[in-house]
Amino acid sequence: MTPPLDRSQSIAFIGAGNMACSIFGGLIEDGWPKNKIWATARSEATLEKVKNQYGVQVSPDNHQAVRQSEIVVLCVKPQMMKAVLQDLAPTLKETKPLLISVAAGINLDSLQTWAGSRLPIVRCMPNTPALLRCGVSGLFANEQVSAEQKAITDAIFKAVGMTLWVDNENLIDSVIAVSGSGPAYYFLFMEAMTEVGTRLGFDRKTAEQLTLQTALGAAKMAVGSDVDARELRRQVTSPGGTTEQAIRAFQAGGLEQLVEQAMQAAVDRAAEMT
Ligand code: NAD
Repeated sequence: MTPPLDRSQSIAFIGAGNMACSIFGGLIEDGWPKNKIWATARSEATLEKVKNQYGVQVSPDNHQAVRQSEIVVLCVKPQMMKAVLQDLAPTLKETKPLLISVAAGINLDSLQTWAGSRLPIVRCMPNTPALLRCGVSGLFANEQVSAEQKAITDAIFKAVGMTLWVDNENLIDSVIAVSGSGPAYYFLFMEAMTEVGTRLGFDRKTAEQLTLQTALGAAKMAVGSDVDARELRRQVTSPGGTTEQAIRAFQAGGLEQLVEQAMQAAVDRAAEMT
């Protein structure tokens, strides 16, 4: 049996922007004590807003938040990460927290080098639906991360959706190609269906409503089903019917190969960035 989650530890979120607020918002809803959550940002206005909205502890000083915390979640933009970690290095050396980075395109080697000491580090790749607690987070831990630290990291990211641990850091690039960039693939498809819907006689708003409700219904059916997407598709495709004709057109146009090319391009770009 999984031991009950230890919520006595404090967590510092460095960079209280969209992603940090989604994560600690989820944690608070899950019952994590607000006084055990620290959030930092450079602007006083952001800190004030975060304090009022979430009731967490806020500070403009990253060092202060790190000193108070056993877990540090790095949520600054990737281009800020080097400067933030190099600045924090002396404090990290002293307090040795569990470090978790959600920055896209920054690998463990860089995080380790900039942090300056051998620390337990988890690299995490969440996706945008985390904002609705419906995200997917891919996670990779270095050897210094203990089983207990892994469990607590898992609980943190389960607060905003599902988690997937990978045992090879390269697989984080694949996570990026599937779930990280994935929401945009579906948006693109919705965009195309809406556009074509207008050409088929609907005003834009109606075409959009039909498209979005269909996407929602299909996603709910697929998530709740005990058969896979291929079988669901078979079940809704009557021989000689309209859906069959549409699917044939997608297949003749090489949809699967196109998806492969697109996702491989995302993997290649992710590898180039790290
Ligand atoms: P954001 O711009 O909303 O948040 C960044 C925050 O960092 C801002 O509040 C800013 O004030 C603060 N900040 C900047 N410099 C700082 C410093 N020196 N010290 C403390 N705080 C500082 O960005 P975001 O969309 O939340 O993205 C944050 C991280 O999450 C990025 O590294 C991104 O790659 C990663 N990420 C985001 C998403 C997403 O969907 N938003 C998905 C996956 C990964």
